[in-house]
Amino acid sequence: MACLICGQDGGKIIGHKNGYRLIECTNCSLRFADPTPTPAELDALYGAYSPNKAYSRKTASKISRTKRRILRYLHMSPGRRFLDAGCNIGTGVEAARLIGLEAHGIDVGNDSIASARELFPLGQYHAGPMESLPTSWGNFDFIYSSEVFEHLPELHGYCAALTARMNPGGLLYLTTPDAGHWRVPANFANWSEVRPPEHIVYFNKQSLAQLLTLHGLDVVKFEWNMKPGLKALARKR
Ligand SMILES: [Zn+2]
Repeated sequence: MACLICGQDGGKIIGHKNGYRLIECTNCSLRFADPTPTPAELDALYGAYSPNKAYSRKTASKISRTKRRILRYLHMSPGRRFLDAGCNIGTGVEAARLIGLEAHGIDVGNDSIASARELFPLGQYHAGPMESLPTSWGNFDFIYSSEVFEHLPELHGYCAALTARMNPGGLLYLTTPDAGHWRVPANFANWSEVRPPEHIVYFNKQSLAQLLTLHGLDVVKFEWNMKPGLKALARKR
């Protein structure tokens, strides 16, 4: 199976989980599950995904966390147009709105978007894939993407659709599990983040930077993290 980033065939098999082979690309070091789920399988996974609608303490703490993350880099943003790519029930959109940004959110889950509209009705939401982002929303200065990339079977299609809607100098702040972290088990299949068909792509700093570079983004920094998670800030050229 060809690497999802660089296209090289014949990666190294590094384990098995849930009936999937785990492959490491010998060229760009991306790890991924093989085979990648089909569109029908993904629809079954996320189409019927039922979010927890309750406004909980956890919801409030997620809003606070996202506010802190946005505020850390807002001074570098070329403008105030914000998109949460993979917004789930809308906590990131609400965080941005509370800061005073023009807050938009997109998610493939219809139920998630319905909950977002109910919980945080002042944001703007759209249910569907990245390619269906409403053109009337224009382009964005700050895109936030938390724990989304590890779910994506079509990395290039997604990134192309995302970066096409970023203004020059626009920021992308993204988080995803870190397969290169020192706390990842030596037996990769034992890592809790390896759970195909949900989590199917496992980045390290190198492979994530390569993907972003191919789509016209420069990595500004990876935040230090005690836990095995990448927190990357990238800027559109
Ligand atoms: Zn590769």
